[in-house]
Amino acid sequence: MTEALASGTDHPTDWEPRDGGWWLLASRCERCANRAYPAADHCHRCGAEGPLPRVPIAASGRVYTHTRVHAAPAEFPTPYTLAYVDLDDGPRVLGRLAEEPPTAGIGDRVRAVPRVVGRTAQGEPLHAPYFIRQEV
Ligand SMILES: [Zn+2]
Repeated sequence: MTEALASGTDHPTDWEPRDGGWWLLASRCERCANRAYPAADHCHRCGAEGPLPRVPIAASGRVYTHTRVHAAPAEFPTPYTLAYVDLDDGPRVLGRLAEEPPTAGIGDRVRAVPRVVGRTAQGEPLHAPYFIRQEV
């Protein structure tokens, strides 16, 4: 089971609430314009050295593929569904499909919200994108 949606100021530092939804802070390469999330310190496409500026990108896109997980470390109760989502602003992001069992399939429109999926040994929250199906 996951904890409630992060809200207010209790959200990951690379997410920001904006326009009634959530945006991700990605890195943007000034040489080739590649955007990456999680943000990177150098460009994985062209090799440009950083630091790379951070830019907000919409956390919405289409499911590229997904897989059901039945065995995981104890802190991640199963089953759950991992998905790669091609965001509208470029990056392909790994997260989870929110509904259980999932209602989104390959090619469906989704938007992400941050959720706490576990805790570190020190009790700090571990966040992951949760993708919710969007009706079109
Ligand atoms: Zn680049």
